[in-house]
Amino acid sequence: MDKKLVVITGASSGFGAEIAKQLSGLGYPLLLLARRVEKLEALELPNTICRKVDVSDHQQFAQAVDEAEEIFGCETDCLVNNAGVMLLGHVEDQDPQEWQKMFATNVFGVLNGMQVVLNKMKQRKSGTIINISSVAGVKTYEEHAAYSGTKFAVHGIGETVRWEMAPHNVRVITISPGAAETELLQHVTDPKIQQDYVNWKESIGGAITAKDVADAVVFAYSLPQSVCIRDLVITPTRQQN
Ligand code: NDP
Repeated sequence: MDKKLVVITGASSGFGAEIAKQLSGLGYPLLLLARRVEKLEALELPNTICRKVDVSDHQQFAQAVDEAEEIFGCETDCLVNNAGVMLLGHVEDQDPQEWQKMFATNVFGVLNGMQVVLNKMKQRKSGTIINISSVAGVKTYEEHAAYSGTKFAVHGIGETVRWEMAPHNVRVITISPGAAETELLQHVTDPKIQQDYVNWKESIGGAITAKDVADAVVFAYSLPQSVCIRDLVITPTRQQN
């Protein structure tokens, strides 16, 4: 197979780790990014470069991609902007630093990644960006105000860039999972909100898995370059809202 470098952010757990395993199994060379680089390395995937990168840091992100493209001798064919944090709370009392962290990661991280790879994709007239948004980027939920704001932003950014990139044959795909079992919820600092969420997941018979979401990502990427799945929403069947 032609070398097609895939860059995955937030590959140290959850969806990112599963997407990395599946694409590696299909033979893709990978650049994996996260802050916990030891967890990236522990995946022990062949033909894979792991770098400690905070996606909100444009320079770190760009350096890691430049270095991987140099080592592999090819440009990035696909960027999966997956890194994200969900810190639920009420606007009237949530620590504003939680908003900063979410917007820095979920929004600026996505913009950074797109800027790092888009020019070369545009010149090559080929490439794929897959942004992991959320159903909270399509509709609203209690306690999700700031998080939802970040994910609505991901949708807005993706829609615009898709429009701009269409004449250049570059795909922009937005994938929006519903409740899925990963580390995401563990970072919520309000114990009551966290417990309510766990109870809700149990009440609907459990969440979908990282594998379910990775299957969707790999499917969307595997279609011909001329075919773009613009938006894909994937939730547990029993999730009503
Ligand atoms: P996890 O918490 O398991 O994974 C999040 C990943 O993002 C980790 O690898 C983490 O790595 C990375 N990350 C967080 N902050 C940064 C940062 N500043 N720089 C680089 N990497 C970072 O959660 P999920 O797998 O569930 O989340 C993946 C994406 O899916 C997120 O965008 C999330 O919003 C979205 N999502 C998840 C849903 C769910 O129910 N699980 C539902 C809908 C959307 P590290 O800490 O090592 O940096």
